Amino acid sequence: MKYISTRSPHRSFTLREAARLGLAPDGGLFMPERIPQVSLDTVQTLAAESYNALAAYLADLFFGDDLPSAQIEQAVAQAYDFAPRLASFDERLHTLELFHGPTFAFKDFGARFMGSMLGLLNDSDRELIILTATSGDTGSAVAGGFHDVPGTKVVLLYPSGRVSPLQESQMTTLGGNVHPLKIDGSFDDCQRMAKTVFADTDFCRRHGITSANSINLLRWLPQSFYYFYGWYLWSRATGRAEPPTIAVPSGNYGNLSAGMLAARMGLPVKRFIAASNANDVVPEFLRTREYRPRPSIRTLANAMDVGDPSNFERMMALCGAEFDRLWAQVRGFSASDYRIRKAIAEIYDRFGYLSDPHSAVGYLAMKSRPAAHGFWLSTAHEAKFREVLQEALPAEAIPHALPPALEEHMRLPRVFDTMGPDADQLKAFLQGI
Ligand SMILES: *Cc1c(COP(=O)(O)O)cnc(C)c1O
Repeated sequence: MKYISTRSPHRSFTLREAARLGLAPDGGLFMPERIPQVSLDTVQTLAAESYNALAAYLADLFFGDDLPSAQIEQAVAQAYDFAPRLASFDERLHTLELFHGPTFAFKDFGARFMGSMLGLLNDSDRELIILTATSGDTGSAVAGGFHDVPGTKVVLLYPSGRVSPLQESQMTTLGGNVHPLKIDGSFDDCQRMAKTVFADTDFCRRHGITSANSINLLRWLPQSFYYFYGWYLWSRATGRAEPPTIAVPSGNYGNLSAGMLAARMGLPVKRFIAASNANDVVPEFLRTREYRPRPSIRTLANAMDVGDPSNFERMMALCGAEFDRLWAQVRGFSASDYRIRKAIAEIYDRFGYLSDPHSAVGYLAMKSRPAAHGFWLSTAHEAKFREVLQEALPAEAIPHALPPALEEHMRLPRVFDTMGPDADQLKAFLQGI
């Protein structure tokens, strides 16, 4: 399998090139050159066995020319010691929980797969440094995904005082090949430092520096796998034969565009709902046909605060840049903070279930289509967003303890280096580790 840029189909790249580059040289995003087709019988048989059996089959469709099947299976096993679960509330309301991984957010599915695949693809004599600027969630998922992956080091830049104690502890208690750098500045400073380093391509080539940005092909592709599993679990639970409607809480649209990829591979799906918070560039586009990127607005579902989603380009590529084809498959939805808070309270009142603010947007999107049957994706565990739940729910609704795995991180000593917002200092650090 070769990979091409969303902006020019004429030049193709190998898997290794695409994975290392992250972004295509013309500024586009990498896509598979052709879209493999699944056998739904095989999907059902393997899903009944385990998530990993299904994921290995799907991964083989993409990577089978580059790696032996046994190695792909090994990469999947190394990435996933957790699986999605379906929670059902009544005949119509179901959610696919994607937060049972080590950092309690769905980004584990992409980041951990990328970690284990890069471990396999990397030539053993060339050490790779994964440099990532983070405002919280991405950093913990990437740190977890690359922790102990041979031949790699991870450098995380995060803004001092702007990430939650829980997020900081997830990034700074792993040790080993993970090097957290607390930057005396804002997230924008962190991002600028990383961009300055990446812009120096000579420096990056010499020191083997690459990014684990969410647009990386190896983070994006495996996100198509859980849609098939969700379809299997939902069909089995409901006994329904028709294709489901799937609501996807969205920010940078990696998740939703991976769902569209799954549909092109043969996933039965009636429709996707692009469920956004007040940052509603894509729902607006679906309504007006006009794409108006703008600065993001801060909301309660802050991992979805994106004003110019990178993966919009993949969505357009997957529908051949034809609005009507996109419209046939995707509808938009957006919710204000007020409605998100109310939804968290409603889900608790009706079902005794605690929902994080991002997943609550998916719930609202599903409910906005009263005739539709299907499920929404739950993208984070509520324990990661307790501050928001405290605003929305009575005190007695909130559990006192964190889940044991998070509690454990909170107890461990945090180890990090500190630095001013200075790209030259960062370069010196990267040369020294
Ligand atoms: C990253 C994230 C999202 C948004 O996913 P995209 O793929 O960027 O659309 C939603 N919810 C949570 C909890 C996230 O961390």
